[in-house]
Formats: sequence, C-alpha cells, structure tokens
Amino acid sequence: MDKYEKIIGMAKRRGFLWNSFELYGGTAGFYDYGPLGAMLKRRIEDIWRKMYVIEEGFYEIETPTIGIAAIFDASGHTRGFSDPMVVCSKCDHSFRADHLIEGIVETPDALPASEIKRLIDEHGIKCPQCGGTGTFGDVSSFNLMFKTTIGPGAERVGYLRPETAQGMFVDFEHLFRFYREKLPFGVTQIGKAYRNEISPRQGVIRLREFTQAEAEIFINPTEKNHPKFSMIEDTVLRYYPASHQRVSHPAHEDDGGIIELTTRDAVDRAIVAHEFLAYHLVLTHLFLVRVGIDPARMRFRQHQPDEMAHYAVDCWDAEVLTDRFGWVEIVGIADRTDYDLSSHAEHSKKDLSVLIEYDTPKQVERIAVKPDMGVIGPLYKGNAGKVLAALKGLGEEDLRGDEIKIEIDGEIVPIPRDLVEYETVIEEVRGERVIPHVIEPSFGIDRIIYAALEHSFSEELVAGVTRNVLHLPAEVAPVQVAVLPLLTRDELITPSLAIAETLRENGVFVSYDDSGTIGRRYRRNDEIGTPFSVTIDYDTLGDDTVTIRDRDSMAQIRMPIGELAETLRAMIRHGFSDAATRHNQIF
Ligand code: AMP
Repeated sequence: MDKYEKIIGMAKRRGFLWNSFELYGGTAGFYDYGPLGAMLKRRIEDIWRKMYVIEEGFYEIETPTIGIAAIFDASGHTRGFSDPMVVCSKCDHSFRADHLIEGIVETPDALPASEIKRLIDEHGIKCPQCGGTGTFGDVSSFNLMFKTTIGPGAERVGYLRPETAQGMFVDFEHLFRFYREKLPFGVTQIGKAYRNEISPRQGVIRLREFTQAEAEIFINPTEKNHPKFSMIEDTVLRYYPASHQRVSHPAHEDDGGIIELTTRDAVDRAIVAHEFLAYHLVLTHLFLVRVGIDPARMRFRQHQPDEMAHYAVDCWDAEVLTDRFGWVEIVGIADRTDYDLSSHAEHSKKDLSVLIEYDTPKQVERIAVKPDMGVIGPLYKGNAGKVLAALKGLGEEDLRGDEIKIEIDGEIVPIPRDLVEYETVIEEVRGERVIPHVIEPSFGIDRIIYAALEHSFSEELVAGVTRNVLHLPAEVAPVQVAVLPLLTRDELITPSLAIAETLRENGVFVSYDDSGTIGRRYRRNDEIGTPFSVTIDYDTLGDDTVTIRDRDSMAQIRMPIGELAETLRAMIRHGFSDAATRHNQIF
C-alpha cells in the first residue's frame, strides 16, 4: 500500500473525503468533503483569508459560478482552453494525449497535436485501459469547459467558470472606483471552478469540480517594486528556474537543479522577474507552510518559455513532492501583464485604462487646430464632422505646408490652406492613461488539502505498536481538542461533558469521546490530527485539575480547569511547548 492509498483510506474511513455519488456508483473527478474534511478545508480557507484579505487588504468578492459566453470569448477560454485527446478505437476510452507521452519529452503539454500523435505512434504507446497498440486515432482538441444554457432554449450559451479570476476582471471598473481610483489594489475570490477533465485518474489531484482561492492584484505597469519587499527580502525559498530544468527529464520528476536563495538574491540575479512577483512567491510559501506543507518537499518551479502563456512575463508554480504523483503544482503565480484587461476592453468596447497621475502635473506643448467651420460646414456637408475630427488629429508638420491633406474613409481629401489656422498652446497634463498589469496567485485548495494531509502523515512505532499521526498545524486541525474521561464512568462523564461545554462556549472546537480504552481514544485522535487531548480522571474530582496531552510529543501537563480554555487557545496559536513552558509543569 503506498502513502496515497493509506491517506485516502484513512480519509474515507474517518470522514475527511468520500467519493461523490457513491450510492450510485460514483464518477471520477468528484469528491465530497465529510465532516472532518469540510472543517479542515474551512480552516485552510480562513487562514488564506487572514493573510490575503485581512493582512494584504485585498477585499473578497463573490461572482456567479456560471458565466456568459462573451466573458470566455474575451478570456480566450472558448478558443484555447482545451486539452489534446485521443480515443482508443478498441475500447472507446478517452485519454489526455499528452499524458500518454509523459516521460518521453519534458513538456508534453506544450507540443502541437501532430507531434503528440507522431510520438504516440513512434513509441508504440499502448492503451492504458485495454492494452491495445496502434488503436489511437488522431489527436483532437477537447474544450474543458462545462457548457450549459441560460434560460429555456438553446440560444443563450453559458459555461461553468473554469477559474474564479474572470469574475474579478469583469468587475474591474467597479473595483477601481471602490478603491478610489488608485493602483495598486488587490481583490480576491474563493469559490468553485469547473473543468471537464478528460480522464481524471489522479484521485483528489485532478478534479472536475474544485475550489480555487485567487487574488488579482492590479498594478501600475511601471511600478513593479513592492512597497513591503524589505519585510520579506531575507526569506529563503527553494527556486527551480527554467534554465535549471534538465531537458532529458520530465520537469515534474526532476529533483535536481533546485537552488535556495534569499528573495533579494532571486530578484537581483534576475531569476524572478521583479519584486512584486517575488513578494507573492514568498506570501505563497508562508501560507503553504502555515497550513502544513513541508518546506523541504516544496519548490517554486519557473515555467519554461514554451509552457508560459504568450502574454505572461514570468510564471512560477508552487509544487509539492508527493509519494505517488511526484511533483504536483498546487499554486500558480504569474505576471499576466495587461492581457486580461486589454482583451476585456477590446471585446466589451469599454475603456478599461486608468489615469496614473504624475506627482506634479506636466506642462505640455500642444498644437491647437482651429478650422473655419463657417466655411467647412456647408462645403463638406455630411462629412463635415469627419473632416473636423481628422483636422484636429493633425500635427504641426501636416499643417505647415501650402496644402493640407486628410484621409476620410480611405480617401485623401485636400483642404484649402486658408480654412485652417493653428497655434501652439501649453497644456497641463495630470497623468497618463495605462491598462493596469495583473499579478495573479492562483491556489488550488483541494490539492493543498491533500498535500497537507500527506506531508503531515506519519507512522510511528511506540512500544511495539504503530501510531498513525497527522501532524497538522493546530490552527488547521479539524478537531482542536478531544475531551476524554479516563474511564466510562458517570462520575467522570458528568464533569467531562461540563468541561467540553465550557470549551465550546470559549470558541474551541471540541469532540467528546468516551468509548474504548483511553489508549485507543488517543490513537483515534492522533490519526485525525487532533493536537490536544484533555483527560479527566479521579484526581480531577478532588483537586479540579485535568491533563492536557500533546499529540506530537505525547507529553502531558496538569492544570486547573479554570485555566484550561485560555491555555488551550494559546496552544492552538503558539504550540504546546510554548504554552506548557509558561506553566512549567511538564511531567
Ligand atoms: P491553473 O489556472 O490551471 O493555473 O490552476 C490554478 C490551480 O488550480 C492549480 O495550481 C491547481 O492547484 C488547481 N487546479 C487546476 N486544475 C485542477 C483540477 N483539475 N483539480 C484540482 N485542482 C486543480
């Protein structure tokens, strides 16, 4: 049994994850979060909110999970959001064509369909389902968006959103006004995204419905330095730059070439394009470590030039090392330039540029054209407006000669010189109009949850018995405290229930458990990652004290019931040892 099987087995048994629609046989690519999974997910999302919404000040918005076709025409999803697909002519199964040639080339997802087809044939790739060779037809392009109709009738096409980002781009004008027309500003959204993956065989890693947490940070294109860079510049990250990725190995399996650098070095050595992006790599790192990802099994991999979207300046994926799937992307962080706003501006015919004000207004010389409209009006009749607009657009060079020529509807029209006067005027210019650039960290919450489970999972031999433990950070553990009477006796159960109630009133999420031996109950709680257990025994009845047991070290401290809630809250925030040392009562 590999780690994945062990973790998924535990997750199903203990109520973290279940296959959706299992009652009816289930369907690949959908998972339910059971009671513990939903709690874990909520806590991870709340930490993301704390860091991005509260600490960075990026307000959260909520937009529909269905979008109209116009949005995805502008974003490029209706045209380009597709994966190459082959169908086995023998068993009729569909496959991601590029996945079939993984291991043969480094970036199979960057190859054109014809090249993938050639490699499949050349290497005699077998159908993973039926084992047939030479059974694949041509490579076709399968759009990953779920299509639907809005209202009755088929005329109004809609799509389930393939990412949360577009809702934020589409609201740009409102958001800019909300932020009092100043750059930079950020906005976030946490919600479901849908991708009709061709053949999701990677369990919880590749889902057809999943949760994204995305931030879109709109910045002035000429200011890619980050105001808080000095606060994070010494943080060391594990970078895996494009130039270090060996050509002979698939990128996702290659562990060589990772370099550890301070963020300052990464920017100074031009490994990361600029401070703004580097700041967000660090923020991503801090978040991932806080929710339970092992920093030693994490790296930031830069996209290869042929892998990166054509408009992007620089793109990095936070990847985690997993037992079964190797390196897996869990977060993408990109400088998307002005691509998103420019294409929405073009498709919606709205001006999405913003005025970047100069520190002090500039005095600029300008040519003011003064056509004699008293003559031009009657002379050019219906075309007079066009003539006026064309004249106003002329520069001094065009106006200096004996004859003035303008272009109207593709035709050159001479205008008598004496009908146009001009002068040089000095004008005050407050700033210039630009389309903001976008920095986008895009988190896949479901993959992060799986990675946190795998990285915190351990099997430990204690007195000849294997103890399965999830060393989840206390802040994300679904159950924070287990309240356990030492024995299933009424005189211990009554005070235990009262303690559980008091803790709940103090905002601690508690489970109460009185079935089985105390050893078995500790194991059960270790397995789901409960960081602290409170045990009520016969001494409690005499002196009103209880023990707190630490999941990771199995150390115990004894303390008065009156101090319990406050101590546990401190432990959840700062860990067992810190709070316990203050008590100085470890035994
Ligand atoms: P992308 O927009 O493809 O860069 O995706 C952003 C993040 O969403 C990725 O880093 C993944 O964590 C997550 N993600 C993308 N596709 C899936 C999927 N099919 N299932 C689960 N998570 C996904």
